[in-house]
Amino acid sequence: MAKRDYYEVLGVQKGASKDEIKKGYRKLAVKYHPDKNPGNKEAEDKFKEATEAYEVLSDEQKRGIYDQYGFAGLEGMAGGGGQGFSHAFHDFEDLFGGFGDVFENLFGGGTSRRRGGGSNQGASLRYDLEISFKDAVYGTKAEISFQHNEACTECRGTGGADGAQRKTCPTCGGAGQVRRSAGFFSVAQTCPSCQGEGSVIDNPCKSCGGSGLQKKRKKIAVTIPPGVDNGKRITVPNQGDAGRSGGSPGDLVIILHVAPHKFFERSGQDLYCAVPISIMQAALGAEITVSSLDDKKIKMKIPAGTQHGKLLRIRDEGVPLGNSGRKGDLYIKILVTVPTKLSSKAKQLLEEVSAVEGEDTNPKPVALSELRG
Ligand SMILES: [Zn+2]
Ligand SMILES: [Zn+2]
Repeated sequence: MAKRDYYEVLGVQKGASKDEIKKGYRKLAVKYHPDKNPGNKEAEDKFKEATEAYEVLSDEQKRGIYDQYGFAGLEGMAGGGGQGFSHAFHDFEDLFGGFGDVFENLFGGGTSRRRGGGSNQGASLRYDLEISFKDAVYGTKAEISFQHNEACTECRGTGGADGAQRKTCPTCGGAGQVRRSAGFFSVAQTCPSCQGEGSVIDNPCKSCGGSGLQKKRKKIAVTIPPGVDNGKRITVPNQGDAGRSGGSPGDLVIILHVAPHKFFERSGQDLYCAVPISIMQAALGAEITVSSLDDKKIKMKIPAGTQHGKLLRIRDEGVPLGNSGRKGDLYIKILVTVPTKLSSKAKQLLEEVSAVEGEDTNPKPVALSELRG
């Protein structure tokens, strides 16, 4: 999707003042805020779009670059290409502080609630796992190794040295924000003493610097159920980053990438592969043995008069439908091959067949679509 001009997004002129930009963003943020539009993807996108525009246009340096070079100039900069909204969200309370209680009423609890639970929760992590075609069909167990944040072993996640405990922040009394009056309004700001955490530590742990977290490599075994396909997500609960100050951990989300198979293809629950037979087998009928994806030898009958390209079905040798016991089918596409080296005896016999059957030297055309499928 093409990006809209940042000024256009915020509904302001190119030479707009800082105040106009702020006003423009505030209007959109109030309208499209996720708390006000739960589960509304369109509102969420609008909110993100507005936040990105505001992040750039409210920053003099970024705005200068954007005015001169457009989106290309911001690429690679933090917050330029749709990433790193942290700055903008940090400003959120400053931005809306002016509304005081009006803002809180709009969102039912407002910014403090968001601050309370949200910031302590550990991040969910993504892990891309490539598996073979066969493992995707029949399921497998995989051992994966990844890095995540765990509670610091030195301080057991408290962040304090020598058993020092976190204590309620004396500046904000644990709320994570402070209020000061500005004219008629009461303005809420992130508490400068605890950065919004609501608690502080006097004697921080040397090992983790007071965060209570440390990077650790972890190995876990994951069960890949049968029948999964490309892009399937498997969520391993609580294996993401640990939370801060007793916050809940994030999840590990495994995204599966299925490697192609040399011979087999898949469409939904059905498998497809092709096998060559001779014109004699096609004409006279035959019994052949084919291999299923799991190397089972399966006898199948080729009926007399089988045409090139014909799909023959073998029931229940396709992809399992989860653990339901039901399976798709295996389709064998018949490739009738023409002999290229004939012994003189074979040549003589084929000439006899040709003479007995008679050949059509004036064939009528057939639709090309009959050769496909
Ligand atoms: Zn505080
Ligand atoms: Zn520590």
